[in-house]
Amino acid sequence: MKTVTHWIGGALAGGEEAGRHGIVYDPATGSEEARVAFATPSDVDATVRAARSTFPEWRDTSLSGRTRVLFRFRELVDRHRDELARLITAEHGKTLEDARGEVQRGLEVVELACGIPSLLQGEFSENVSTRVDAYSIRQPLGVVAGITPFNFPAMVPMWMFPVAIACGNAFVLKPSEKDPSASLLLARWWQEAGLPDGVFNVVQGDKVAVDAILDHPGIAAVSFVGSTPIARHVYERGTAQGKRVQALGGAKNHAVVLPDADVEMAASALASAGYGSAGERCMAVSAVVAVGEVADALVPALAERAASVVVGPGMSDGSQMGPLVTSAHRDKVASYVEAGIREGAELVVDGRDLKVEGHEAGFFLGPCLFDRVTPEMSIYRDEIFGPVLSVVRVGSFDDALGLVNRNPYGNGVAIFTNDGLAARRFQSEVEVGMVGINVPIPTPMAYFSFGGWKQSLFGDTHVHGRQGVHFYTRTKAVTARWPEPTGERAVHLGFPTAD
Ligand code: NAD
Repeated sequence: MKTVTHWIGGALAGGEEAGRHGIVYDPATGSEEARVAFATPSDVDATVRAARSTFPEWRDTSLSGRTRVLFRFRELVDRHRDELARLITAEHGKTLEDARGEVQRGLEVVELACGIPSLLQGEFSENVSTRVDAYSIRQPLGVVAGITPFNFPAMVPMWMFPVAIACGNAFVLKPSEKDPSASLLLARWWQEAGLPDGVFNVVQGDKVAVDAILDHPGIAAVSFVGSTPIARHVYERGTAQGKRVQALGGAKNHAVVLPDADVEMAASALASAGYGSAGERCMAVSAVVAVGEVADALVPALAERAASVVVGPGMSDGSQMGPLVTSAHRDKVASYVEAGIREGAELVVDGRDLKVEGHEAGFFLGPCLFDRVTPEMSIYRDEIFGPVLSVVRVGSFDDALGLVNRNPYGNGVAIFTNDGLAARRFQSEVEVGMVGINVPIPTPMAYFSFGGWKQSLFGDTHVHGRQGVHFYTRTKAVTARWPEPTGERAVHLGFPTAD
């Protein structure tokens, strides 16, 4: 069986020894496809040393030089986008169409980073005091790391490294051990694009590798995306070591449907957002908040759509939804469906008995729909991360807004309505980082920043956009005077003020 290895200093590394490792599956067949090496702290140390030794060369590469590498990388991803999408589908299970969308959204961050000369521009003020100028510059941090989840094995790393590298940093990626191969394809394309070896590195692994990254004194900053308990751990341990950390966590995304909404449109949007990628998106809609009488029309419209989703292998034409990532995750999601029934919710569509012909050992679970879910139930409280939609019925707009705002997560939210005033009030008062108005998955474009509020983000900057540039650089403010040969030379012990 092949072993997925690390990529250190421009070469594959670390696959030969039979050390700790994980198994990579094909979720559509359930078969074991590869082993993935798990890095030790000394592997992480070797990676950081490789990155540190190249950092000065890359930091000192001109903006034009860096931009040329980024444009070449952009061309390579664009040209080979299908190869990358197929690799994602093979290890994650999502449909090819979905994987292609993931690649496209990652590519858009590379395109943003191609504009780094403008994004990095500092500020200049002439004559802040007599014949004294002041200016600020943004400089890279050094070696920075990204730790990423299984659900977007290409896009989430691409939220981070194009911006970090464009800013002049060296980067260490620790991808998810469940679908690790995309990272190595990206590493090869960086090398082909002319990025100096050691600027982009990959260490495969689990908690051991993550903790070694958090503790390593040679790493200046860590970007993390994953579940809330791990995000909190990464934030606390990383900042305790003096690192800059942004840690994006889990989600429980609500979609509020007001009585005046276009029910057919809303039902299609919600089914797409709830069941797309088998619900394994951090922006997936999980709780549908039906206001007033709209539930009576909405629930049957949702049920019709849930029951007609074509579930099958991600590689097959016509599949709309693929399997879940592992059998353990599929079983966990199914156990939530059982808990929902036990706790008194009404299971309107049950996907647990779904069989995909020829793929009986695949990790499939069909779309499930619950009605009359209440906030005390575990299917409402927990992030399920599977194809399970829960309808919560409430009486009014204020009840809906209060429910969303009391939820500890604050990643994404949507409202469906034809009432502009209600939508505007919602946008203003809702305590969530990303808001959609008649848009179910309001994932910001690369030139805006992506991030949630509350327990969906630990730290204070979002990823990509200007906040990404901010995160991966530090500001230096310079005050400069060029003394005139005949100028004053006296000693002044008072605090300097402008004159
Ligand atoms: P996860 O938290 O299990 O894993 C994320 C990363 O942390 C992986 O690289 C993993 O190897 C590492 N990790 C796992 N356990 C660890 C531990 N005990 N100590 C240290 N590191 C550990 O998340 P996942 O299951 O891969 O991804 C799904 C989760 O990610 C969901 O909660 C989803 O909402 C979240 N997510 C959030 C966003 C966002 O933008 N907020 C985006 C994508 C995914």
